[in-house]
Amino acid sequence: MRQSKRSWACVLLLALLLLSACAGQGESKEETSVPQAVEPVGKVYYAYFDTVSYVYDYAGDSAERFDDRSAEVSHILEEYHQLFDIYHEYSGVVNLCTLNKNAGGEALEVDPRLVEFLVYAKDMYTLTDGEMNVMLGAVLRLWHDCRENAAEDPANAAIPGEEALREAYTHTGIELLEIDTERNTVRIADPEASIDVGALGKGYATERAAEYLEQDGAAGYVLNIGGNIRCIGDRPDGSGWVTAIQDPDNSSDSFACRIRIRDTACVTSGVYERYFTVNGQRYHHIIDRDTLLPAAYFASLTVITRDSALADALSTALFCMPLEEGMQLAETIGGVEVLWIFPDGEQYSTPGFAALIQEQDTN
Ligand code: ADP
Ligand code: MG
Repeated sequence: MRQSKRSWACVLLLALLLLSACAGQGESKEETSVPQAVEPVGKVYYAYFDTVSYVYDYAGDSAERFDDRSAEVSHILEEYHQLFDIYHEYSGVVNLCTLNKNAGGEALEVDPRLVEFLVYAKDMYTLTDGEMNVMLGAVLRLWHDCRENAAEDPANAAIPGEEALREAYTHTGIELLEIDTERNTVRIADPEASIDVGALGKGYATERAAEYLEQDGAAGYVLNIGGNIRCIGDRPDGSGWVTAIQDPDNSSDSFACRIRIRDTACVTSGVYERYFTVNGQRYHHIIDRDTLLPAAYFASLTVITRDSALADALSTALFCMPLEEGMQLAETIGGVEVLWIFPDGEQYSTPGFAALIQEQDTN
C-alpha cells in the first residue's frame, strides 16, 4: 500500500487537470475548496490506501448535502481501507493482514464485504487467465522489500534472486485462497502464501463509493481515489470531464492525450508509478507471472469502463499481456476501452478510446 512521492505527484497532477477550475488544496486532513460561482466543490482525504482521495461535486448540491455525501464516501473508503490493509490490523476487524498472518491456520470468519471482495478477486483471476492474481503476495513481497531497501540504501540496491522468486511463486496458487460464502470464512491454505490486493483494492473501494452515490441519487460527482477516476453521471450541462493521460516518459511535461469522459471509470497503470533503480535499470511494480519480473510490454496502459473495480483489475492484467491478447480480452468483455502506450512512446487504442480523445485546445 506504499506509494512513492512521484506517484502522489501524478495523482495530484491528474486531479488538477481534471478540475482546473477548482480552488487549491491545503495540508489539512480534510478541507473544502472555495467555490467560485458555479464551480465545483471538492474535499480531499489523505488517510486511505496510502494515497490522496478527492470527492468533487459539480452539480451545485447544497453544502449540507455535499457534506453528508462526502462524509459517507469517506466512511466507505475508510472501511475498505481497513479491510484491505495488509500491513496493519484494526481493533475488532479481521482484515487481510490478519488473514495473511494466519496463513496455514484455521479458517477465520470475516466481514461479508471481504468475502464478496475476495470472490470478486477470484473472478478477476479467471477473467484475466491468471494475469491478475491477488495470491501473488509471496512474489510481490520480495519485490516490495527490494524497493524499500533501494530507497533506504540506493548504493546497494538489488533485485530479488531468480531462485527466491521461483520458490515464492510455488506459493501463489489461487486455490490456496479458500472461501466459504455460507459461513463467511476465509483461509489461506499455505503458510508461505499471502494476499496482495494492490492491483484491485482501490478500484473496488472506489466502485463501492460510486455505488452509494448513485443509489443516493447523486449525479455530476467525480471521485479520484489515488488516480482511479470514477465519474458519477455527467456535468449538469452534459459536457463531461476532460482528463489528461500522463506521458509515461516522465522526463517530459507533456501528456499522452486528453480524453472527455462521463459516467465511467478511468484507471491507468504505468511504469512511472512506483519503481526503483539498480545499475541504471528501472524496476517497476507490476509483476508478470511468466517472468516474475516487471512486465515489459508497455510503459503505461489506461482502461476506461464503467465499473472502477473492473477497470483496476484490467489495468494490471492487460499490462502483463501482449497487445493482441489484451485487445481480444477487452473485446470479449465488451464496454472496455483501452490505451496502450509502448516503451518507445508508440500508442495504440481501441476505436472507442480514440473517439474520446480531445484536441489540445478543447476543454
Ligand atoms: P497502482 O494501484 O499502483 O496504480 P496497479 O493497479 O497496476 O497500480 O497495481 C499494482 C499493484 O498490484 C502492485 O503494487 C502490487 O501490489 C500488485 N501487483 C503487481 N503485479 C500484480 C499481478 N500480476 N497480479 C496481481 N497483483 C499485482
Ligand atoms: Mg490495477
